[in-house]
Amino acid sequence: MTSNNENLRPAEQRSDLTTIPEIPGGTLEFLKTKLETTTRDKNITVYVTKVPNKLASEASNLIRSVLSTTEGAVDLQHLRRFAKCQDVPIHVRNAYAAVSTDKIAVLGGRVFLIVAPIAAVTQQKLVELLSPTLGSLSFFTINVPMLAPTSQEQASLWSTQYWPTVYKKSNPFGPHPSIISRSEEEMQGDVEKWMDLAAEVARQSKATGMGEAFGVVVVERVDGVARPVAVAGDARWLDWPKDSPGNVTAHATLRAIDMVAKQVRQSHQVGEEQAREALDGGLGIFRGEPELPIEREHFRTSMDKEGYLCHKLELYCTHEPCVMCSMAIVHSRFEKVVFEHRMNRTGGLCADGDLGHGMFWRKELNWQLLAWQWFRPAPAPAEIELNQLRISNVAKGSEKPARSISPSSDMNV
Ligand SMILES: [Zn+2]
Repeated sequence: MTSNNENLRPAEQRSDLTTIPEIPGGTLEFLKTKLETTTRDKNITVYVTKVPNKLASEASNLIRSVLSTTEGAVDLQHLRRFAKCQDVPIHVRNAYAAVSTDKIAVLGGRVFLIVAPIAAVTQQKLVELLSPTLGSLSFFTINVPMLAPTSQEQASLWSTQYWPTVYKKSNPFGPHPSIISRSEEEMQGDVEKWMDLAAEVARQSKATGMGEAFGVVVVERVDGVARPVAVAGDARWLDWPKDSPGNVTAHATLRAIDMVAKQVRQSHQVGEEQAREALDGGLGIFRGEPELPIEREHFRTSMDKEGYLCHKLELYCTHEPCVMCSMAIVHSRFEKVVFEHRMNRTGGLCADGDLGHGMFWRKELNWQLLAWQWFRPAPAPAEIELNQLRISNVAKGSEKPARSISPSSDMNV
């Protein structure tokens, strides 16, 4: 269920596995990718054995040679390949003791070795491969986390629960953490300003009857200087019958992309007069003409741009864009998108909502971008008291729950 609380929940209720920078002007929470949500808590079963210390590197080379050609091999670089007896959890030692055929202590000692996921190779194959060089080996299986940890704390926890784990500040299932943190540093100074602008055009869209209370702002950032290049509100009711679902191609995001397209196209027109004609010439179904004063104010007659339409541009949205708009965001190659309110039943970006598309980071699509949900700064104590009063009134049935500016969580944005 979509609820207001999801958009206003305090920091301590959010995932403790994600680094959430508390920044002036609100908080950015990077979305989980589809792969992260499907593999985050997944364990895989691996073969473990103990090999003589002096043959450790030979064992490693042998295993690598067979696994490099095997399907089912997965990246387990977050796990130490070798581990001393005292460094593994007690259940690993017990599992080895249960299968070990060691009669006497081997001179020079032995070290635990993660051999391979059981999906990648059979135990018989391993025996055939390793025994000629390493002698008799006792294999057993344990479960280990499939995904690299997202913090040092998590790595330490997993080391005590599963197997010695390394935090490498990397994420094989999403963008590199350093790219995310660099982007957040870039945006932190002005994200609230763009979100306020998006909220204002959303308010005007609704107030004028042009559309529903959804709005977006496209921002261009050059050499650290950010400026809006398109501001668009929802326009589904513009010249459209009210007894219908509205003009689906007049969603705020599609209008904003159309506005960018107009500006880029006009920059290729010869002369201002021709450019103006192009702008005035006919109303497209995407309704990319600026309608509201606030849209006209930020609309430029032309924009010099190379490459794909929205390459290097940022999109700030009051609400999570629908599946159609999310695909348009991918196809026009935005670099970043930020939204405030989740639309669990209709949104295309979140991987952990009801739909679970996670379209901002799908390797099977030809473009990936960065995506955040933004949380407004914590409300002042007086507002909290007011909200608590509302909640208690809702519980008593004397007031309907506040829906912020979202008319319905079933709506496509
Ligand atoms: Zn849409």
